This record gives sequence, C-alpha cells and structure tokens, in this order.
Amino acid sequence: MARYTGAVCKLCRREGKKLFLKGDKCTSQACPLEKRNYAPGQHGAARKKLSEYGLQLRAKQTARRYYGLSESQFHKYFLMATRQNGMAGENLLRICESRLDNVVYLLGWAESRAEARQLVAHGHYLVNGKRVDIPSYLIKKGDTLAIAKNSLDSEKFKAILEKTGNVPAWLEVNDDNTAKVLDLPQRDQIDVPVEEHLIVEYYSK
Ligand code: SF4
Repeated sequence: MARYTGAVCKLCRREGKKLFLKGDKCTSQACPLEKRNYAPGQHGAARKKLSEYGLQLRAKQTARRYYGLSESQFHKYFLMATRQNGMAGENLLRICESRLDNVVYLLGWAESRAEARQLVAHGHYLVNGKRVDIPSYLIKKGDTLAIAKNSLDSEKFKAILEKTGNVPAWLEVNDDNTAKVLDLPQRDQIDVPVEEHLIVEYYSK
C-alpha cells in the first residue's frame, strides 16, 4: 500500500485523536483538532456509532498512522508479535516503539516521526558507533545512539537540540548528544492512544 501523502491533520480528525504528526503545531492552538474534532468531509460532523468491526479497524488505523507505517509493514509487525512470548498486542506496540525513527523522535532528535524517518534515511544517526540509515531498524536493550558529528554543526540540528522535552524512562539521553536504550518499553510507557486488543481482534478474524 502506498504511503499516504495527503494532509496529515485529516488523519487525526478521522481518528478523533491527536496522532502528533506535525511537531510543534500539535501542542499549539493551531492544531485543527482543537476546533474541528470531527471527521473531514461533508458528513464528518455526524460521527456515527461504530460497530465492533469499526472499532477494531479504527484502532488498527490509529496505531498504524501514529507510527506512520504502511499496511503491509504493520501487518508484518503483527505477525512478528504473535511469534514472541507474551501478549501479541503489547508485543506489537513494543516493536513499533523500537523502530529507530520512533526512538529518534522520542529522544527529541527530530520534530515528528515523519521528520525522524527522513533524517535517519539521510544518515544523521549512529547506533553503537555505526551509521544506520534504515528507519525500520529495531533497536535493542543496551544499544547506544548518537547524532553524527558532522550533522551536529548544521543549523537544523542546532535548532532541534535547542528544544528540550521529556524523554521516556526507558531511554537515557546525555549532554553530549548520545543516548542509551536502558530497556525496551513496558505497555504503560507507550503513549499510543489505542486499545491494542482491538488490533489483535482485527487481525484474528
Ligand atoms: Fe495536525 Fe498535529 Fe493536530 Fe494531528 S495533532 S491534527 S497532526 S496539528
């Protein structure tokens, strides 16, 4: 399935939830969801009560869009999650959280997941001392991350690093622009606004 290239704020309006796809705009009054929290389109304001299938579909779409994943990539992660020990839904979210583009975003080294994906693909980050330019690269407990030295001199990174934010407890960021993965996240450390059991039900039909 091709990557969505339309207006991303419409995705949040479709799900009725903030998916944080636009950096600073998402936490400002300029976020369209502040004034128009209804689905886009002529009949969007008349939000209908969803069927059981509708709820499952929306949960899957919400998580997929939150992480900016294609349908096939998300389904691949689901299959991977079912082969791991533990709850498939929680495993699925943990796999999505472990993607390098997501971790870079959580560290505050990119303003959105979409920007993180682009910056990773352009080779701005190191994992365990080696340049990794694959956004879907899955990080592991104990990995160290860094911003490439020559990237730190760019205006883009100077601006990014001027902003400080909270980093989840499973990650540790240092003053020298390096970071460590202390552990992979537990469910209560993952912010995605979905009930993952609905995604499992969606794919289990
Ligand atoms: Fe747009 Fe961000 Fe608001 Fe979503 S949360 S509607 S991406 S500004």
